[in-house]
Amino acid sequence: MLSDSDFLRLLPKAELHCHFVATVRVETLLELADEFAVPLRTSDMDELLRYRGLPDFLDVFHAAQQVMRTPEAIARVAYEGVEDAVREGNLRYREYFVNPDNFAELGIAYPELIDALVDGLGRAERDFGVGYGLSCAINRSLGPDAAVRMVQTMLAHPHSAVLGIGQDYLTPEFTEDPLRFRDAYALAEAHGLRRSAHVGETMPESPSNVRDAIEVLHVDRIDHGYRAADDPEVVALAASTGVAFTCTPHSTQMLSGWDFDENHRIAQLIRGGVTVTLATDDATLFHTDIGREYTVALTQMGFDIPDAVRIARAGFEAAWCDEAHKQRLLADFDGAVLALTAARA
Ligand SMILES: [Zn+2]
Repeated sequence: MLSDSDFLRLLPKAELHCHFVATVRVETLLELADEFAVPLRTSDMDELLRYRGLPDFLDVFHAAQQVMRTPEAIARVAYEGVEDAVREGNLRYREYFVNPDNFAELGIAYPELIDALVDGLGRAERDFGVGYGLSCAINRSLGPDAAVRMVQTMLAHPHSAVLGIGQDYLTPEFTEDPLRFRDAYALAEAHGLRRSAHVGETMPESPSNVRDAIEVLHVDRIDHGYRAADDPEVVALAASTGVAFTCTPHSTQMLSGWDFDENHRIAQLIRGGVTVTLATDDATLFHTDIGREYTVALTQMGFDIPDAVRIARAGFEAAWCDEAHKQRLLADFDGAVLALTAARA
């Protein structure tokens, strides 16, 4: 008989909030750092991911970006990241945030970046059957003009794998400030690109950031959005619009120290009728994987198998792939759930 933990691990998953750079396998990070002479605090794998504070974390995050300086390295990281997530949590579809400005700084132009990603992810799709899409991340630290330029670059080089825009980093003042980027969002919307925003992630940010992202930036999805749970009106707005929240439990433990219990803000959002999907955010750097977000976080927040099935299915429903692809993914999902349910009885 299949245990609950194995059921949750084997449940097919769509991951919609995943920063490409942080899908790097730790062994590969060490190897590439050596090859490209990128300095690391230590070459001990466990020690590297044991942060004594935010600077240690940012050092590793920076190094993970710095090692991706050739198309071959990018394609390799892309392929291995899928291979790992299939093993750890039966990943079936994933959308990645990629930050074109950071790669441009390393000398990788936008078309070359997309080609390298498609090379690795396409090979992984053929070998593991995992579909994918790309979302370009506005680097909020570079300001609103750079955000508009990023969207212009995307529009100048359209690619079927590139589905929309999202965000990473924070503004130079270490805030979210979603409205600062309204011009980039309007441009993306006018040209049919899908949109998400990182808002309401931590305590210093206001629940109204979630409202602004929905009402002004017209996002299709919210990334994080936890602070919405502190304002019933924002929860009601999110529930009534059906906008999906890509929540990343382990990152909230690492960054905000929130325990996994029934009062966790993700649990509150789910109970409030908000469409929630689970993801890893920065899998390698947060010591997590898409399986653990279900087997550990979701169960400790008090949710059962039917809840998990509903939440996992929401990930496929909220995907930005084309409708035919989505229907195929959903049919496969429903078939797998039937088989897993039979194996559990
Ligand atoms: Zn994120």
